[in-house]
Amino acid sequence: MDPADARATLQAERARGLEAVAAASTLDELERVRVAVLGRKAPWSEVQRSLGAFEPDPRRELGRLANEVKSTLEGALRERRAELEGSAEDALLEGDRVDVTLPGRRPRPGSLHPLTIVRSQIVDVFTRMGYRVAEGPEIEDDWHNFEALNIPPDHPARTMKDSLYIDVPGLLLRTETSAVQIRAMESQDPPVYVVVPGRVYRREAVDATHGSLFQQVEGLAVDEGISFSDLKGTLEAFARAMFGPERRVRLNPDYFPFVEPGVQVAVSCFLCDGVGCRVCGNGWIELLGAGMVHPRVLENCGCDAERYTGFAFGLGIERVAMVRYGVNDLRLFYEGDVRFLEQFEGAA
Ligand SMILES: [Zn+2]
Repeated sequence: MDPADARATLQAERARGLEAVAAASTLDELERVRVAVLGRKAPWSEVQRSLGAFEPDPRRELGRLANEVKSTLEGALRERRAELEGSAEDALLEGDRVDVTLPGRRPRPGSLHPLTIVRSQIVDVFTRMGYRVAEGPEIEDDWHNFEALNIPPDHPARTMKDSLYIDVPGLLLRTETSAVQIRAMESQDPPVYVVVPGRVYRREAVDATHGSLFQQVEGLAVDEGISFSDLKGTLEAFARAMFGPERRVRLNPDYFPFVEPGVQVAVSCFLCDGVGCRVCGNGWIELLGAGMVHPRVLENCGCDAERYTGFAFGLGIERVAMVRYGVNDLRLFYEGDVRFLEQFEGAA
């Protein structure tokens, strides 16, 4: 290499290096540029290595030029590195950016289940009349669920509803909250005024109006001188408190083993006021079973049936909720679908 070629190479390398540095768009690219223009195999290094072969004058001149090119390129590399590092940091910060003015994620408040709303309303009506809330076990024995309620083993009422038995002989899932009537009378002497909300179980095919699990509210009043008109007056007060002051009740004879006489209770429709509509059909909505407590049931609980009389009633909470909220399928209450449940936010 003669001095003229060496000079030309250094000048060309300065121009090529500055261009390459400016074109590098990442730190990795910039590092490759550094190796290409100042690395051991770069043309600039070849010139540097060949300086010793030149005469002193051109050696000094070329040595100066080589240093100048090197520091120019190093300066450009340093500046470009700083730029690229800055923008890499900016990109990182941009990705992490938090807009503190955005509204936060609030937890969605839940609401009471429609059956819970209806159950507490029913219970409230009776506790305001002086009834006490009683509860009992969901796994019952034969005595409380059947026998004490005047349903002996061979009684046809045991086939009226199929029961769900458990593995322990003599125990079953209660089929009525009526079992708690017996427990209430066993545990206290009259007067007894209790209202019993709770789950009951039947072996039923599940459809829009039947489930194998549902909820009842049972009521029991036992005292001296309780008559059928007390029952009717109590049910009227209940119907008016739940469905409006204009409601009337209609009693039709019915049979339940633990009452005598027994009645099916219908309430005049709160939508059409008894005229007849899509919900009620004929103007009446059948809601309860009721009757005067059978003297044998009182005696079974050690209660003097000569001295005391009483009435009992039971109603399905799902039935009341379906009528009140216009729900046409019982299963909706148990599926836990938020789209259904959220419609009852703030419901009364
Ligand atoms: Zn109606």
